[in-house]
Amino acid sequence: MSGPRIGILALQGDVREHARALSDVGARPVEVRRTAELAAVDGLVLPGGESTTIGRLLRVFELLEPLRAAVVAGLPVFGSCAGMILLARDVVDGRPDQPLIGGLDMVVRRNAFGRQVDSFEVDLDVDGVEGPPVHAVFIRAPWVEKAGDAVEVLARVAEAPVAVRQGPLLATAFHPELTGDSRMHRLFVDIVRSSGSGR
Ligand code: GLN
Repeated sequence: MSGPRIGILALQGDVREHARALSDVGARPVEVRRTAELAAVDGLVLPGGESTTIGRLLRVFELLEPLRAAVVAGLPVFGSCAGMILLARDVVDGRPDQPLIGGLDMVVRRNAFGRQVDSFEVDLDVDGVEGPPVHAVFIRAPWVEKAGDAVEVLARVAEAPVAVRQGPLLATAFHPELTGDSRMHRLFVDIVRSSGSGR
C-alpha cells in the first residue's frame, strides 16, 4: 500500500529533513512550489525558516491565495516554527506587511522567547504522541499568545502553547524534523489518513 502524498512547501527552509521524516513514517513526500503541485497532495508541510521571507515568496510564486483556499477546503497542513506563524490568524511582532495563510484560530508572537534564549532544546510531553517525551528544538521560535476554543493545545513550555491542533491543522513552535524522531510526522500523517483526503 502506498502512503499519502505529502507536499513540503519548498520555497525556503529545511525541506530535506521533513522529507526524510515523512518517508520514515510511510508517506510519499513531494516538493511543492506551484499551484498544480499543491493540487496533487493529500497534506502539506510548511517548514521552518523565516516567515516574512516565506510569505513574500508565497506572493511571488502566486501560492498565497491557492494555499488559503486549500486550507479553507480542509487540506491537512502541518506548520513548524515559521510554518506555525503562517497558519496563525494574526502575528504579534511580525512585519506589518507580512502575509499569513491562516486557518488556526490563534495569535502567535514571533521570536517570542527573546534574544537571550534564541535557541534552546527541551523534552516535552505532547498530547497524541505516545512513548517518551519529544525532544524539541526551538530556534527563534514563536509561541501561541492567544488561542480560540477550537484550538487544542498539545504541549506547552512554561505557560505558552507550543504545539496545537485544530481539525486537520497541526503546528509546532519547535522543529521535529531535526531530531530523527518522526513521531510528530506520524501524528500528522495519521491526521491526513483520517481526514479522508488520501487517494
Ligand atoms: N523567527 C522565524 C520567523 O519569524 C521563525 C524561525 C524558524 O522557523 N526557525 O519566521
